[in-house]
Amino acid sequence: MKRLEKIYEGKAKILYTTEDPNLIIQYFKDDATAFNGVKKGTIVDKGVVNNHISSVIYQFLEKNGIPTHFVERVSEREQLTKKLDIIPIELVVRNVVAGSLAKRMGRLEGEALKSPILEFYYKDDDLGDPMINEYHIREFGLATDDEMAVLKERGFKINDLLVGYFKERGIRLVDYKLEFGRNNGQILLGDEISPDGCRLWNIKTNEKMDKDRFRFDLGKVEETYQEVYHLICDR
Ligand code: UDP
Repeated sequence: MKRLEKIYEGKAKILYTTEDPNLIIQYFKDDATAFNGVKKGTIVDKGVVNNHISSVIYQFLEKNGIPTHFVERVSEREQLTKKLDIIPIELVVRNVVAGSLAKRMGRLEGEALKSPILEFYYKDDDLGDPMINEYHIREFGLATDDEMAVLKERGFKINDLLVGYFKERGIRLVDYKLEFGRNNGQILLGDEISPDGCRLWNIKTNEKMDKDRFRFDLGKVEETYQEVYHLICDR
């Protein structure tokens, strides 16, 4: 399937139409942003790495009963996906205290949570993706109550699957962001799962293996993305 017209360019991906109105091609770029677009840069070959990692993970999730938008990886930087009407909610799943949770609650990074925490953010760059709760979601019609029940159930199920998946590969899945969308009356997992939208720590050393290396100039950014690529894709 060939890409036709560009329909959207985001921070990390470009979306194209295809001959099939139900399918789009996602092209993964090397551009990296942080702090709501304030910090900009490039991570060499990030697009290739994230396309491969996300493809492998979405196939794993599909095999385990999670419906996703993923159809197939068509090249080093492109994947074919089902077209979604994106639900404007970013679902953050947390297993360990880090990032904004550490700040908000005044806790040290690294504290394991007794059970996973789900958080909702309103997907709006101009507003800086503010945190919201289910009352905001209902009031402003971002998703129905039935859809929210599906999102929460999927979030916990995906987390159960992914915590074990990453653990087997020597990685602690600290926290990550998920996005969902509607397609033919179904809710599908969209976007991507990669070191861009996850906090991944080396299970033995706690070394950061994700976009925090870029956010906080920790060095070895490309090397670390490649390392995660090998841990996930070389099996
Ligand atoms: N995250 C993301 N996109 C966003 C916000 C968060 O992918 O717009 C991911 C982030 O990489 C981390 C998790 O969601 O793995 C939780 O992020 P947090 O709320 O701690 O915010 P941050 O510290 O990234 O500002």
